[in-house]
Amino acid sequence: MSADCIFFRIISGEVPGDFVYTDEEMIAFRDINPVASTHILLVPREHIASVQDLRPGQENLMGRIIFRARELAEQEGIASRGYRLVVNCGPEGGQVVPHLHVHLIGGRRLNDKMG
Ligand code: AMP
Repeated sequence: MSADCIFFRIISGEVPGDFVYTDEEMIAFRDINPVASTHILLVPREHIASVQDLRPGQENLMGRIIFRARELAEQEGIASRGYRLVVNCGPEGGQVVPHLHVHLIGGRRLNDKMG
């Protein structure tokens, strides 16, 4: 856990977020630099630096985050058209913020390229 991590500061309430969902184990808020009309970040409250830092016992947390992304896609009206879930991991995976998060992106036809 680090006070200079922007997601830690959003979780702690120090920095405002445009929240679309919160519960005791995760928050979801709109990305400040959206790449599509829907671009939401789902973030566990517990500090987990990346997918690579997941520990046994956290499988269900990740399942619930994915399930919540599905619910938010419905809420955003993009579920039937399709959308993309992205989890960047580490420097070569393009992860910038060192706190595990899932991007929910949709609302337009996304580029087919995967990098
Ligand atoms: P990643 O590259 O996977 O680490 O994604 C980090 C994401 O966090 C980027 O899409 C940023 O636009 C987003 N981001 C950074 N700071 C904020 C913020 N204060 N509020 C919302 N989203 C943010």
